[in-house]
Amino acid sequence: MKKKLLLIGGGHAHMVTLSNLGRFIEKGYDVTVIQPSEYHYYSGMGPGMLGGTYHPDDIRFATRKVVEHQGGTFVHDKAKEIDPDKQIVRLEDSEQELSYDVLSCNAGSYVPRDVISTTSPDIFTSKPIESLLDAQKKILELSRERSVHIAVIGGGPSSVEIAGNVQQLCQRQATHQPRITIYAGEKLLIGKAEKIGRLAHASLTKRGVEIVEGTFVSKIEPGEIHLKKGEIHPADIIFPAVGVKPSQIFANSNLPIGSDGGLLVNRFLQSTKHPNIFGGGDCIYFEPQPLDKVGVYAVRENPILYSNLMASLEGGELQEFNPGGDYLLIYNLGDDKGVFCKRSLIFSGGLAFRIKDYIDRKFIKKFQAMEKDIPE
Ligand SMILES: Cc1cc2nc3c(=O)[nH]c(=O)nc-3n(C[C@H](O)[C@H](O)[C@H](O)COP(=O)(O)OP(=O)(O)OC[C@H]3O[C@@H](n4cnc5c(N)ncnc54)[C@H](O)[C@@H]3O)c2cc1C
Repeated sequence: MKKKLLLIGGGHAHMVTLSNLGRFIEKGYDVTVIQPSEYHYYSGMGPGMLGGTYHPDDIRFATRKVVEHQGGTFVHDKAKEIDPDKQIVRLEDSEQELSYDVLSCNAGSYVPRDVISTTSPDIFTSKPIESLLDAQKKILELSRERSVHIAVIGGGPSSVEIAGNVQQLCQRQATHQPRITIYAGEKLLIGKAEKIGRLAHASLTKRGVEIVEGTFVSKIEPGEIHLKKGEIHPADIIFPAVGVKPSQIFANSNLPIGSDGGLLVNRFLQSTKHPNIFGGGDCIYFEPQPLDKVGVYAVRENPILYSNLMASLEGGELQEFNPGGDYLLIYNLGDDKGVFCKRSLIFSGGLAFRIKDYIDRKFIKKFQAMEKDIPE
């Protein structure tokens, strides 16, 4: 019987594996990819899509098309649980159990909903990235009739990028301009170099975004933000951007996990207990050193994951993942402006955004090139 390679999620760390799926098939392996969407969205460009800079087609990778064209099987569902002893994965929307010889997990992360006490349709998280499209539609729809209040909860990078791009969207496309407030917790971009916070703060407030610091949100109700200090603020549209946690699959499975619930992996990106399970991106906890939840690491993990999956099937030698040193981050502030941060080199403005735009477009085009050659 053919050996089976099963991929959970076609995220940033699986891009090289997905592009080379045909090589596994040529060698006689059966390959299946589980993903809840037929497309994978490049998160680095998600806020830009919200702001109207990018069309959804500019920022997504046609996972189903690429998998099926190379002879793999695409399962449109969510992995719910892994049984490492039986070597099967259970799904959320189907009773089907998928078996594997080698499993690789790149299911990303989610925004915790602890403070959200409602499933109101006017609450939009930044993960999955697709929900930013729904948010865009809703904002433009409401802003046709009146000026709305848009609340962004959290003071981190995704909060800054969402608020800045909502401002851009409305300035360019809305009939009535909204009031936009960031509820930043203690301080905007706390924990980053002081200059980054200062530049982002200045750019946003200059464009009318209010920033509330020194207090936390305790609860989100339909149409309301409750602050710890007791105030209640009305809000028409709410973006909880309170950081991310690894996919819950591993906490639901009998697998070793890290302190954040991510799949615990060794230096080969391999489960510390089950040598036939691998993982990359936001859903892992890298045992040698905890890694920031940034796409940079997922991207760097690509070639190692591809090589180790092949080696694991073929009986070859595994390669070590070296996370590398400092990385470049550029925040998209909207209005075609950004903040560029690499070690002590920090600056904001149009050039920062243009560099980010160039890098991001180049990255996604590299992987989209393959799908363009596939006939409809
Ligand atoms: C708004 C925003 C902007 C960001 N900008 C940047 C940036 O500019 N630069 C940077 O380095 N980082 C950025 N990040 C961080 C970056 O998004 C993550 O680190 C990166 O997405 C991690 O990649 P991933 O492949 O692990 O996860 P994801 O990109 O989330 O991909 C996971 C994939 O798995 C699928 N999936 C999810 N659950 C399941 C399941 N149960 N079963 C099967 N499939 C599943 C999803 O559909 C998705 O395709 C940003 C994050 C946000 C929220």
